[in-house]
Amino acid sequence: MTWPPLREELRGIEPYGAPQLDVPVQLNVNENPYGPSLACAADIATAVAGAATTLNRYPDREFVELRTALAAYLSTDTPHGVTAEQVWAANGSNEVMLQLLQAFGGPGRVALSFAPTYSMYPEYARDTVTEWVLGRRESDFSLDLARARDLVKERQPSVVLLPSPNNPTGTALPPEAVATLCEAAQDGIVVVDEAYGEFRRTGVPSAVELLPEHRNLVVSRTMSKAFAAAGLRLGYLAADPAICDAIRVVRLPYHLSAVTQAAALAALRHAPELLGKVDELRAERDASVDWLRTRGLQVADSDANFALFGTFADRHAVWQGLLDRGVLIRETGPDGWLRVSIGTADEMMAFKQALTEVLEEEAP
Ligand SMILES: *Cc1c(COP(=O)(O)O)cnc(C)c1O
Repeated sequence: MTWPPLREELRGIEPYGAPQLDVPVQLNVNENPYGPSLACAADIATAVAGAATTLNRYPDREFVELRTALAAYLSTDTPHGVTAEQVWAANGSNEVMLQLLQAFGGPGRVALSFAPTYSMYPEYARDTVTEWVLGRRESDFSLDLARARDLVKERQPSVVLLPSPNNPTGTALPPEAVATLCEAAQDGIVVVDEAYGEFRRTGVPSAVELLPEHRNLVVSRTMSKAFAAAGLRLGYLAADPAICDAIRVVRLPYHLSAVTQAAALAALRHAPELLGKVDELRAERDASVDWLRTRGLQVADSDANFALFGTFADRHAVWQGLLDRGVLIRETGPDGWLRVSIGTADEMMAFKQALTEVLEEEAP
């Protein structure tokens, strides 16, 4: 018997995680480069101090105040509004999506996505013993809707996972694609993972607008990216209240600590400030995409705070060359591609400088 007595399918598997290296320019996990202000931090500290005096008690397990605040925030994205009963939250949207798989996946059921897609999804499927089915995106990372619909009809997934804007490509799905797949997946749920939703280009709508028309649609969001609060661990979703209710069956008791709830509420009160850098980052993103293209590189259209670019015969050499110059990006995506998160103007200057040198030296 091998030790420890791990499930067969977990043996030898490396835990997920991008390298956390201490280098001057970190552009590898799509964080917001601008942290909360001291005023915002002080407000969070005061809120947490208030919660600390009640830590002998379990927190509100239905986190009603937080759900109400998140619903108010989401309502700015749709003329139909969002109610607190339509909102659910957990410790990061990764936990939200694991809970969705726990509730709606499981043995004998299928979870489906289209490659390239977020690398965590197959892990939620594995951990919940849900069969994982992977369709394909086209070479420009868009979806061939007729083919996607046929695959959904054929495999009848319980959960369809659609990151939009997609990670690692940055591309967003049009509302028609979401609507078509919601209809095709009648007996399952369709999760549109909008972790990067706030970064979408002008005119690209959020799937939140489609909620009234599709009771099986779930839109997932996070405070980790645009909201500049990755360290807080707060993700949430909007969906039919029946879906939120169902998740309550699988959530751990009191999964959102009083500290998390207090900090998230305080951060939400500072939403305009925390989101204040989003426009600047979008402009920096568009400029970075243009710059990479002038270098003769292919770049996927991006509605996120990162860009996928390539292609390189030896992408690892390029990644390493950048790291040697103090710039950490991500070796991810289809073969030959690399992903860079959008940082401050200074960080992007350092990235461009380093990439110029690497391309001259390595001539890949
Ligand atoms: C970063 C990211 C998330 C957010 O994860 P959290 O657990 O909320 O930090 C979710 N989905 C995708 C596709 C992401 O890239």
